[in-house]
Amino acid sequence: MSIETIKYSKRNRKHIIEKIDSDVTASHWRNWKWQIKHCIRDLDTFQKLLGIELPENIQEDFKKTTSKFPMSITPYYLSLVDTDNLLNDPVFKQSFPSPSELIVTRSEMSDPLHEDKDSPVPGITHRYPDRVLFLVSNMCSMYCRHCTRKRQVGDIDSIPDKEQIKKGIEYIRNTPRIRDVLLSGGDPFLLSDEKLDWILSELRSIEHLEIIRIGTRTPVVLPFRITDDLVSILKKYHPVWINTHFNHPRELTSSSRNALAKLADAGIPLGNQSVLLAGVNDCPRIMRSLVHKLAYSRVRPYYLYQCDLSKGLAHFRTPVGKGIEIIESLIGHTSGFCVPTYVIDAPGGGGKIPVMPHYLISWSTNKVILRNYEGVITTYKEPDSYEPTFCDRDCDRCDLQLVLNDAAEYRAVGIERLLADYNEDVALVPENNSRHRRRS
Ligand SMILES: *Cc1c(COP(=O)(O)O)cnc(C)c1O
Repeated sequence: MSIETIKYSKRNRKHIIEKIDSDVTASHWRNWKWQIKHCIRDLDTFQKLLGIELPENIQEDFKKTTSKFPMSITPYYLSLVDTDNLLNDPVFKQSFPSPSELIVTRSEMSDPLHEDKDSPVPGITHRYPDRVLFLVSNMCSMYCRHCTRKRQVGDIDSIPDKEQIKKGIEYIRNTPRIRDVLLSGGDPFLLSDEKLDWILSELRSIEHLEIIRIGTRTPVVLPFRITDDLVSILKKYHPVWINTHFNHPRELTSSSRNALAKLADAGIPLGNQSVLLAGVNDCPRIMRSLVHKLAYSRVRPYYLYQCDLSKGLAHFRTPVGKGIEIIESLIGHTSGFCVPTYVIDAPGGGGKIPVMPHYLISWSTNKVILRNYEGVITTYKEPDSYEPTFCDRDCDRCDLQLVLNDAAEYRAVGIERLLADYNEDVALVPENNSRHRRRS
């Protein structure tokens, strides 16, 4: 079986446990609260637990970087560090502060995705018509060095208190077009079971809310958080979907697979959102191994994100071409559901924009020319005659048997609107287009 567990985790685990406290047992290790209590936040502990001594310059850099962006690593995640090849280790790179984080380039912003600007009430980002992002926690057990919300890590002002969460829930309750809420943070699973239970039950009481989604990295950095108690709470509020955040095949250990299995067994559809990171996973072979291991654990690769323009992430960014190359290496070469959608989350709040290799090479009025993943160039002959159903949104008189109760409310937007029969617009023009201003 090629799906194997990494081998050094046990060795490291033993060393780390002994050094934290020789009385610690395996059941302490598997206790998520014990893990959080023993998160590694300073350099001495980091070196002591791994039995290494870092060069002087790295120690100096550490102080400077952590004065701005603190470190936190769970003992479990630390145990995945490969000390034999430390500086190239993907676990180390995602968790250990780098002085490059202090370099801010001209194109970077503190809130590139305008999550704060698109926010009707604190904690909610309402960008898309039918779904919202709801930040319910600003706590994380491991501080990912590539975090897009670094501006909030350890920021006491952005802890969402119960009042703020109540206001968020009220906003969703009062906005009937929201059918999907995405709980994120921080990590929602760092909340207590009681608090999560409360948030989920409040949300489930909202009639128009169809699905509840949770974004969490605990299966990766704190798999012991996925307890039987937590799973039985989640199960009460179906349909609940979970997206997690594995970036490298090394992160799929027996503990993390166990956590994923519990969630999948509870009927929770699992997805994964990876970030394309230079020196971590910017390699078609690594990504292929990752998506295979995910699918084997019943996790569907959902998105591959181009690293966004948050401040201090320049050293993690790749050209967009690297992402396209990775997608090119997956489509056709492996199971269709192993291929994530590669997206750029557009600066300024434009949302996620998919980018793909091109498969449509050319077309005429009756034929399209395509190429496949092997480079074969082929044709598809279009129908000789096609009577499109004219659509004026009068669904009651339509020949197509479409059951759509709220059809009248449905208005096409964007490119979809340009394509619609009933719409007479010929172009979408930015509001302040100067050529158009001159005309009027
Ligand atoms: C990513 C995101 C969503 C969810 O987008 P999907 O494409 O449906 O996964 C919703 N709101 C905001 C603000 C987001 O960034």
